[in-house]
Amino acid sequence: MFNIVIFGAPGSGKGTQSDLIESKYHLKHISTGELLRSEIERDSEEGRIANNLISKGNLVPDDLIIGLLKKKIESSPSRTGYIFDGFPRTVAQAEALDKMLSERGEKVNVLLDLEVNEKILIERLLNRGKTSGRSDDNLDTIKKRLQIYHEVTMPVMDYYKKTDRYREVCNNTTVAGCFEHVVEILDSIHR
Ligand code: ADP
Repeated sequence: MFNIVIFGAPGSGKGTQSDLIESKYHLKHISTGELLRSEIERDSEEGRIANNLISKGNLVPDDLIIGLLKKKIESSPSRTGYIFDGFPRTVAQAEALDKMLSERGEKVNVLLDLEVNEKILIERLLNRGKTSGRSDDNLDTIKKRLQIYHEVTMPVMDYYKKTDRYREVCNNTTVAGCFEHVVEILDSIHR
């Protein structure tokens, strides 16, 4: 089993790189943003709570997202491992993930941090907003998401640095260039 956390600011390319990693390494990709959007579509209780928070750029409560992730892992077993995309976003979530995995005799092997400068992030998100139909891809909400990323989510990096599971990848250039670096890192630690 090999479990990866794909980490980075909104618009850093987590989803794109996750899809590439999924096809090359046959790991299961779980995006908590997508999980939440599908709860909203189903109009479930969790979806209704999440809807308002997401469209304002806020995070959903830890217990809600941890509960959804647990259910998702239980309903989609993987013999090879997972790519966690958009989770953990708080230190409490990072601790919960370690606990969840250690109960199964597993762990997060590595966190890949996609580093992109802020000007490029905002450009990408505004562009995505033209076609994504997402309620949170507009300038005010993007700024709020970036602020929360800096204040609440970035401390997650230190949590993984302390346990020597942190690796930085530059994603200011092309999708392919970034993936090459990702593969280099994964091949150096995979098995
Ligand atoms: P992005 O990385 O572009 O912000 P995501 O699809 O990962 O997009 O997340 C969209 C929104 O869903 C977040 O802004 C947040 O409101 C909510 N969300 C996703 N994952 C989490 C999480 N792990 N904890 C709290 N909220 C989350």
